[in-house]
Amino acid sequence: MSILPDIKKIADETAPNLIKSIKIEDIRHWKEINKDNPISQHLYFEEFDHEMTGVSIIAFHYNLDYPILPDGCMSISPYYYFANKYYKHYNPLLQELAVTGRIKILKDTHLKSLANLSGIGFYGKNSIIHNELFGSRFIMIALGIYEEIEWDGLNLVMTDCGSCQLCIDACPTQALNKPYKLDRNQCLRHYMLTGIEVPEIYKSLMTDRLVGCDLCQKVCLKNSKKSQIDRMPDYDQEVFGINRYMEEGGLTLNDLMPPLAEWVGKNYARANRVKEQCNIIYNNIRKGGEQ
Ligand code: SF4
Ligand code: SF4
Repeated sequence: MSILPDIKKIADETAPNLIKSIKIEDIRHWKEINKDNPISQHLYFEEFDHEMTGVSIIAFHYNLDYPILPDGCMSISPYYYFANKYYKHYNPLLQELAVTGRIKILKDTHLKSLANLSGIGFYGKNSIIHNELFGSRFIMIALGIYEEIEWDGLNLVMTDCGSCQLCIDACPTQALNKPYKLDRNQCLRHYMLTGIEVPEIYKSLMTDRLVGCDLCQKVCLKNSKKSQIDRMPDYDQEVFGINRYMEEGGLTLNDLMPPLAEWVGKNYARANRVKEQCNIIYNNIRKGGEQ
């Protein structure tokens, strides 16, 4: 029996989802005849071995609506909350399936290119993939497949943005001035919890954000349809109160990381990086209070 129903079952238990599966030979052939296409240049095959027949891309829908932020708290993008929550659910189940040798969880594949080629969605000028079902509010993973299944054909339409440029105009740092291509060095998100030194001019623009920006997604008309799932829970003031990270109240920063990791995942809850971002947020909140 095909592996697809097993994958679909895990996906359905995780969140509303869309799955597309494309053949490796179709991807290779497309890349061969589209060498100059920017998507083609992102497609690399290091993780694809000779036995792999194709790739399934799963898009898990999440709700981008932010809860109200209590005074003195820092915010996170719901993306990180849902990515962490979904990962905890699907990852052990997919790992179990991977032991059978019928799938492989791909970790180093250019998800956006595969998503566009597979028909999961179109490239937005904000450099994020969107579709009619979920807008751009989804988290993607890719699985290598090792058998013949019912494949989807390749999607050859890169974008449906037309003349819209709401996201370009909304970006406070002009990171999207070359449509469809994010200039990472100008994107606020690129400097949050990554350990990369934050340019002085970007610090005040980060306002109260611990991780995530989302301005270029919030304005996108593709996201105007209400999400059918609940938004992330209200901010826990014990976890998001900025003073806890500045004064520590007898606790070490390391003590504060596990509760934060429950929201954003262990990869982002790293004491030094959190502290650096908290310094920025603390100054922004203080300056806001002085105005
Ligand atoms: S805001 Fe407009 S241009 Fe930007 S991704 Fe959405 S539809 Fe495309
Ligand atoms: S996440 Fe923010 S800074 Fe980055 S491109 Fe979008 S709007 Fe600009």
